[in-house]
Amino acid sequence: MAATRDKGLEAAELQELHDLALEHLFVPLKPRAQLATPGGLEIYVEGEGCRVTDADGKSYIDAFAGLMTRAIGYGRKEIADAVYAQMLKLSAPAGASGTTVPTIRLAAKLAQITPGSLSKSFFTTGGNESVETAVKMARHYQRLSGFGNRYKIIAREHEYHGQSFLAMALGKHSAAMFAPYEPLVPGIRHVAQPYCYRCPLGLEYPDCGIACAKELERVIQFEGPEMVAAFIATTVCQNAPVVVPPPDYWPMIRAICDKYGVLLICDEVVDGFGRTGKMFAAEHWGLVPDMMALAKGIASGYLPLGACIATSEVSKKFDEALFIHLITYGCGTPAPCAAALANIEIIERERLPERAAAMGEYFSKKAQALYEHPTVGEIAGIGLLWNIELVKDKKTKERFGPAADALTVRKLREAGLITRVDGGAIRFTPPLIITEDEIDESIAIMDKVIGQMEKEFSAG
Ligand code: PLP
Repeated sequence: MAATRDKGLEAAELQELHDLALEHLFVPLKPRAQLATPGGLEIYVEGEGCRVTDADGKSYIDAFAGLMTRAIGYGRKEIADAVYAQMLKLSAPAGASGTTVPTIRLAAKLAQITPGSLSKSFFTTGGNESVETAVKMARHYQRLSGFGNRYKIIAREHEYHGQSFLAMALGKHSAAMFAPYEPLVPGIRHVAQPYCYRCPLGLEYPDCGIACAKELERVIQFEGPEMVAAFIATTVCQNAPVVVPPPDYWPMIRAICDKYGVLLICDEVVDGFGRTGKMFAAEHWGLVPDMMALAKGIASGYLPLGACIATSEVSKKFDEALFIHLITYGCGTPAPCAAALANIEIIERERLPERAAAMGEYFSKKAQALYEHPTVGEIAGIGLLWNIELVKDKKTKERFGPAADALTVRKLREAGLITRVDGGAIRFTPPLIITEDEIDESIAIMDKVIGQMEKEFSAG
């Protein structure tokens, strides 16, 4: 066991926690065998700004912002104070339909800051539930509008919408990831991503005429417009790789949805609350979806919270009809809502969307030097949502594979940078408060580790 340092835990406690975790805790994405290897179990004990400290007392830059969640960074006392005060006052609403003061105030705040006529929220505990809520609402809306047969949902390939059976079916992330859980939810069709670096349709932008957007129209026609309820997609895809659609993509998608009466749901679980350099990514395209799924940055992950926000056109259908959707925390538990209000106040006061745009530009400029590596295929992103794709060969764009991904993560962590690597893409999605110095430090670590990986692979 590693020696303890200033901020770390005592060796005996560390050993006890290690044994307890292996015996009693499912840790996401790591089997027990991997947790048991040296450094396999990561226990974090403190966080401040963009940095976290682990139980050994070692400090890291969190370049993944705790699953792209910690918009305002770690250790913000204002959030703790707001939550503490709210918990002392009222911990939960009474009854099945009771609500609370911060819940109402947060709903009004979301109406104010989201685009266009998005104005009415249903609260959830996270992204997956927000997506499920949106899809349920879309089907119910269509039924209330006299289109009882509109149940089909069109989504995009290689998305990530969460881990429920519906979200897995929507995401079509990778066959290997979901194979053990099949069959998933039926009634979902998929279209291609606007992923120009490896165009799924084998075309080139702009000569392609945005064929990936036109594919939506073809699939709606094929499935029968009278049977399609909604199209759902992330506004900017966060899934490895990050996919920023070209300027004409979203206007075309909006027009196709309008033409066929198909509701447009944007998943901004990651994109929302400043991550892409605007408060919501849809603003980059002047886009107003019919519904938006929100989570993560809404409370910067200090407490679990999400929301599905609908336009007034959609929500007024439910003025008389009951939206049959009762989840325990759906009334908007007051402490997470208080955390979200304090969090949004910080995001606005510190102008974090603008900051994300500026720091993203800085990152993009500095990261260009990484292209000197023979394995850096593409650096793509917007705001503070970036990835650096590693490839065996810049021409063929062949990927290294999962073992290389795992090794890259481990080497980056050993060098002081926490992030995720998936499909060869090193994510750079830090808290929006990151400084230029921290960006320089992060790039230096990536540079060093990419060099090490190249040596390792040419040696192998
Ligand atoms: N949607 C997107 C775009 C996501 O990235 C995620 C999670 O990473 C989800 C939905 C699911 O959110 P949660 O894990 O809070 O259920």
